[in-house]
Amino acid sequence: MVDHPKTLKVAIIGGGPAGLGAAIELSKRPFIDWTLYEKKPVISEISNGLTVQRNTWRMLERMGAARHIKASDFFRPVNGHHTQHRLFSNGITGKLIYTSASKTDGGPPHHEPCRMHRAKLQQALLKEVDQTRVLTGKKLVDIVQLPSKKIRITFQDGFVDEVDLLVGADGIRSVVRRFAFPNHKISYTGASSYRTLVRSSDALAINGLPREVIFWHGKDANWVYTCPLGGDDFEITVRIKEPASVEHYSWGRKADPLHLRDSFADFCLPIQQLTDLVTDLQQFDYFAGPRLETLIGNEAVVLIGDASHPLSGAFGAGAGFALEDAFVLGAALEWAVANGGGLRDALSLFDDVRSPHYREIYGVLDVIAQQNAELAKRGLEVSQEIDARIGERWKSENDWMLYYDVSKLLSRWFGMLETDRITGRESVC
Ligand SMILES: Cc1cc2nc3c(=O)[nH]c(=O)nc-3n(C[C@H](O)[C@H](O)[C@H](O)COP(=O)(O)OP(=O)(O)OC[C@H]3O[C@@H](n4cnc5c(N)ncnc54)[C@H](O)[C@@H]3O)c2cc1C
Repeated sequence: MVDHPKTLKVAIIGGGPAGLGAAIELSKRPFIDWTLYEKKPVISEISNGLTVQRNTWRMLERMGAARHIKASDFFRPVNGHHTQHRLFSNGITGKLIYTSASKTDGGPPHHEPCRMHRAKLQQALLKEVDQTRVLTGKKLVDIVQLPSKKIRITFQDGFVDEVDLLVGADGIRSVVRRFAFPNHKISYTGASSYRTLVRSSDALAINGLPREVIFWHGKDANWVYTCPLGGDDFEITVRIKEPASVEHYSWGRKADPLHLRDSFADFCLPIQQLTDLVTDLQQFDYFAGPRLETLIGNEAVVLIGDASHPLSGAFGAGAGFALEDAFVLGAALEWAVANGGGLRDALSLFDDVRSPHYREIYGVLDVIAQQNAELAKRGLEVSQEIDARIGERWKSENDWMLYYDVSKLLSRWFGMLETDRITGRESVC
């Protein structure tokens, strides 16, 4: 590609996986002058473990970040099992009911899913980012579109910037989304998760706690999730249905470890022993909102990552989706420039590739929700209900998005697009 002058001014809001991915991808395009703004004082992770799915590995490799991740940074079960499901209710304690194994899709073994501390993922991405362009302690508080179509952004400390393109990578409670889609709302889903880390050496000393990735299922669709991460970290995450009447926050506040013990007092002894190890607990309330028809606003705003699909962590692949968004955004901008097109063409291509993807993902969730509602009407006893629910939810046909290769789709788009679609439009630079 020709070495263009830096003329497209871009602000990326948020230094999570989406924002860091965007920083890496935009850096590859010399015509883009970008700055990343993060409200926290340093770029840091939110919460602890996450699954690095196959699609996430694929993006990490393309972005150069995979090279910074060592085998000791994560946990991957040697037998290839991805997740065990154990029954854990009404005295049936710890019985293995189902194992969802990761499929072989012809991809390399080093792309097998694994569990990793979020900080490791974040740091691996950050190593590929030009940090002189990252401004921390910058909380975006106001957005205005000027008559020139440029976007003026104002931060809590009074700092102001004006850009051609605003990239909303500011997570599920996106300020950028509120600006572009003021009628869109997210709300509490009726369930919260509580998360913590204990030492692996302590957890795995418990008799009956396998060194595996495990959901321990209880009644009311509550569960305890246990797994080693890399090093001496062992993750405990639980999901508890809680009334909407209680005050809920979106993400990460301190909670009382006793709440965990009380909620799972009827669970089998290994889990009770595990909850006894917990000294520090964080609460994450699940918020979600409807699908956005488009991820583009005001012809100068694009949403990526959780800002673009407020799904509350569904499918455990949100970091992968975020990196895919960033990858497509960079490629779409480059494609538009290479074909003499404008920003509108680039954003339209981005939307054409990513919006249908999120429509299909929301569609899977709709089907699962319907199946669960029908299941609830059948009045099954607890262990049968869990059995049936797990069978439906973890069907392999629901997993396609974890194996999805966005670069193949993008190549097909580039092949399909005719140059005259963009001829005559203003240049992106
Ligand atoms: C319970 C749960 C489990 C999950 N498990 C997995 C998993 O196993 N695997 C997986 O891939 N994904 C998982 N996810 C999803 C994953 O966490 C998200 O999809 C991913 O973090 C999205 O990245 P992001 O960069 O879009 O948003 P975030 O990670 O939320 O980052 C947003 C960033 O924007 C900053 N920001 C926000 N507002 C402003 C502002 N006004 N000004 C400046 N900066 C701002 C924030 O401080 C933050 O750094 C899970 C999610 C949940 C809820």
